[in-house]
Amino acid sequence: MGFQLLQSLLFVAVLVTGLYPFVRRIQRIRANIFRGRGAPATDRAALRWRQMARVALGQSKMGSRPVAAFFHVLIYVGFVLINLELLEILLDGLLGTHRILSKPLGGLYPLMIGLFEWLGVGVILACLVFLGRRMVSGPPRLYKAAELNGWPAWDAKVILIVEIILMGALLVMNATDVAMHPGAYHFPVSGWLAHLFDGWSPEALYATERIAWWLHLGGILAFLNYLPYSKHFHIVLAFPNTWYASLDAPGSMTNMPVIQNEVQAMLNPASAPAPSTEAPGRFGAADVHDLPWKSLLDAYSCTECGRCTSVCPANITGKKLSPRKIMMDTRDRLEESDRWLQAHPEATSVEDGKTLLGDYISNEEVLACTSCNACVEACPILINPLNIILELRRYRAMEAGEMPSEWALMQGNIENNGAPWAFPAADRLAWAEQDSTNRS
Ligand code: SF4
Ligand code: SF4
Repeated sequence: MGFQLLQSLLFVAVLVTGLYPFVRRIQRIRANIFRGRGAPATDRAALRWRQMARVALGQSKMGSRPVAAFFHVLIYVGFVLINLELLEILLDGLLGTHRILSKPLGGLYPLMIGLFEWLGVGVILACLVFLGRRMVSGPPRLYKAAELNGWPAWDAKVILIVEIILMGALLVMNATDVAMHPGAYHFPVSGWLAHLFDGWSPEALYATERIAWWLHLGGILAFLNYLPYSKHFHIVLAFPNTWYASLDAPGSMTNMPVIQNEVQAMLNPASAPAPSTEAPGRFGAADVHDLPWKSLLDAYSCTECGRCTSVCPANITGKKLSPRKIMMDTRDRLEESDRWLQAHPEATSVEDGKTLLGDYISNEEVLACTSCNACVEACPILINPLNIILELRRYRAMEAGEMPSEWALMQGNIENNGAPWAFPAADRLAWAEQDSTNRS
């Protein structure tokens, strides 16, 4: 009794120690995201729920690469369902019981554990395939890019290895249990694995079962804490990210009303709305906190899969631009800004002498974008790298006054002639007169 109580107390202590940093980290990320501009769009809620169900839950955009999609779904479904077994682990840990659900579920119990075990085998297989794709042969976007050097390349592998260990611990836990209680449990995979423990003493079986049990629980808590520092946080953020994703037509851009009114007044003074009395904010974005909050959510949601970069015409034709790098840079700068703000609690804005544009993303990258929207179309979780590029470009052109000479010429023409061309409005029909003279 005393030992059981001690075990339960130890379990609660491990659980609290494991959950506390996870909750703190989530709070930090949330605060970080909402340092961005604007407020979440909540219009057309029914459409948003459908979009989230289709893209995040149904993984509808993964279908373009069916083999990868199959293994991805296997890992996803397997991982989510198998963690239902965690419910039993939690109850056993808290109450000091052993397989508390086996009696109330009766014949259903071995069926449920059997399903989890087969899914566990599937998850191990899928993780091995994905490791092979990253380490031996796979699409170059998974390993051949400057932005993947160092930590990002490790991050992708670490989580796959952790998942293999978790699933392995689960199978060993069940197998030693079967070996300890002959005839009591009939599980398909661990029933077979139990033969590996033939001849083991009851003490050795018990110790191995306990180690696997704690390893499974500890592994899940470690996984939980690692997740928000990793690209794999998309497991969670894909859901809000797809819910809040734009419902507008593909490629549509957000205008700045102040500028739109100015241009309208210039081109057609009669139809121009009354000038706004509000002082305009910053034009575009130089740093992360100038970006819309949704772009910051995008940055934390990015899986670094590189599908965007693999279809980017600028990248394909050898330009420096990679939309995946835009997202990774935005997240890195956000994290750096957060660390600075934590170290300077009295500060209301980040003043570390750095900015996203310049220190992370170069002018060359921003100018290489053709605004084709292919990266947005390719993203499996509706991330919009183009939006960040446009905001940075907007800042360059309108705040810093830095733009290629061709753009400056075009803008001057619009201002002076009401059109991008170098001819006055009065000469607009001159081409037709010239054409009729040539014909006669
Ligand atoms: S919109 Fe820009 S970044 Fe995206 S695919 Fe097109 S060129 Fe590349
Ligand atoms: S933006 Fe989307 S497509 Fe690009 S790397 Fe991130 S998740 Fe993949």
